[in-house]
Amino acid sequence: MLKSFRGGVHPDDSKRYTADKPIEKAPVPDKVYIPVRQHIGAPTSPIVKKGDEVKKGQLIAKSDAFVSANVHSSVSGKVVDVAEYPHPNFGKCLSIVIQNDGNDEWAEGIPVERNWNDLTGKEIIGIIREAGIVGMGGATFPAHVKLSPPPNKKIDVFILNGAECEPYLTSDYRSMLEYTDRIASGIKIIMKVLNVERGFVGIEDNKKKAIEIMTKAFEGTNVQVVGLPTKYPQGAEKMLINVLTGREVPSGGLPMDVGAVVQNVGTCIAVSDAVERGIPLIQRVTTVSGGAVKEPKNLLVRVGTTFKDVIDFCGGFKDTPVKILSGGPMMGMAESNLDIPVIKGVSGILALAKSDVNTGTESACIRCGRCIKACPMGLNPSMLSILGQNNLYEEAKEDYNLLDCVECGSCVYTCPAKRNIVQYIKYMKSKNAAAAAREKAKAAAKEKEKEKEKVEK
Ligand code: SF4
Ligand code: SF4
Repeated sequence: MLKSFRGGVHPDDSKRYTADKPIEKAPVPDKVYIPVRQHIGAPTSPIVKKGDEVKKGQLIAKSDAFVSANVHSSVSGKVVDVAEYPHPNFGKCLSIVIQNDGNDEWAEGIPVERNWNDLTGKEIIGIIREAGIVGMGGATFPAHVKLSPPPNKKIDVFILNGAECEPYLTSDYRSMLEYTDRIASGIKIIMKVLNVERGFVGIEDNKKKAIEIMTKAFEGTNVQVVGLPTKYPQGAEKMLINVLTGREVPSGGLPMDVGAVVQNVGTCIAVSDAVERGIPLIQRVTTVSGGAVKEPKNLLVRVGTTFKDVIDFCGGFKDTPVKILSGGPMMGMAESNLDIPVIKGVSGILALAKSDVNTGTESACIRCGRCIKACPMGLNPSMLSILGQNNLYEEAKEDYNLLDCVECGSCVYTCPAKRNIVQYIKYMKSKNAAAAAREKAKAAAKEKEKEKEKVEK
């Protein structure tokens, strides 16, 4: 039996609603709303304008910044607007609206047939960058950046994150059952790029069929499929690395600091599609579930399809939803609008009924210590919430390791006082980021001033 990580919680996994539902193709809508920003990093800029005809898979927005991800059209048709539209993460975002012509015609040169064995690691990274691939578990960090560690960071292990520890979500589970070959190819391609010999596939042991199928797929290889204890947040990168390799990512560090790179199931599928078939990231598998949804499903959805279109395809609501989420109930984003589009990082759309939600109003901390016991990062969430309430983000960073919080929500799940701990933490992190940006700008201005003085002398 594997050693588990410290802390964590055991919420009802609620996967029974969709675990046995094969992936269905969601109808391609009449109009798609494709935001120029679907990733962590620099936003892209549109390279098409209103009135332009586009094809499926055509590049429609790009950026020269390294930490960014290209955006492609998910349908063939006509650009009918380029303007601000609702976005699942940012309220509103510049988006390219395309009227679908119903022909589903690929852009020139797509698809292709390519043998990745004939490509160099550098060529593969270029293809992944062109295809706009991001971490599809929700983090949306550009994949080509993660696969290009600096030369001083020696990577010796690759981990496929098949934990899918968020309750309700089954998109990775169904993908492992139904898209096994593409995932296996994606893993092998990534291992070639990283030049690593050792790989792990970590899957929570509540997904027995996936463990069985993936084990068979990697028989006789140097990729080991490991069943992990079902405990939230087993799928957090730092937990996964620790449980599978025994290595501990240092405070403030990254997986590459301990020689590991972790990617999600959907990301590996996207890598295989791009490298072997030349297909950019224009669709994803997402779980639609929750007590308010009439027919929960796992769906293959084109990027830019609205939540409303997706929920309509699931028969609409059978109950009034009390909460709509993009992603899972522990780390997902609460949404107030169904006109938002499915973007690359949307692993689930949940419409929760009253019976799904543990409601209650926030009260003062009773110092029970449950959150401290639950925190997998060894933090003091109670203290962090109090510091957040009092706007003391510097103390939180210096004395209570604010930046180590992985925002998993285990503390909130366990808190009897219903404290909005993660909300306070996110608020303090944003304050801290703004202060750091101000400092950087001040330092740059000082540097410029010095340069100017030098020239004048
Ligand atoms: S403090 Fe952060 S890392 Fe710890 S349990 Fe809460 S959300 Fe998770
Ligand atoms: S679990 Fe809630 S009430 Fe208990 S110590 Fe933590 S913040 Fe306070």
